[in-house]
Amino acid sequence: MSDTIFAKIVRREIPADIVYEDDDVLAFQDLNPQAPVHVLFIPKRAIATLDDATPADAALLGKLLLAAAAYARNEGHAKDGYRTVVNCNEYGGQTVFHLHVHLLAGRQMHWPPG
Ligand code: C5P
Repeated sequence: MSDTIFAKIVRREIPADIVYEDDDVLAFQDLNPQAPVHVLFIPKRAIATLDDATPADAALLGKLLLAAAAYARNEGHAKDGYRTVVNCNEYGGQTVFHLHVHLLAGRQMHWPPG
């Protein structure tokens, strides 16, 4: 698997504004935020895309979503609501090939997404 900028963040080789960490998950502020709150939740163990995830990754994927939900709740965004997004490959708009969950909050989201 090729190395990515997110793997370098996990290894602390490049800086990031980290807002949450546990044994399996790291979360940091998106450098190019698309909403007042835009945090990325990544597994420390790299999976390139959602298409590369297997049943063995089920618990890890669940941890990512639960970490995002807990962060949103703790930061007071659960009542107004928020959006979680996983982009996959070209049509999904994925640009960093280390699976990540976007947490977007703090404004009204729209549908369909662009
Ligand atoms: O889903 P996608 O792969 O397009 O998302 C990658 C995200 O990573 C983008 O929102 C981009 O702003 C963010 N990013 C970042 N720090 C970097 C490189 C990309 O926050 N050094």
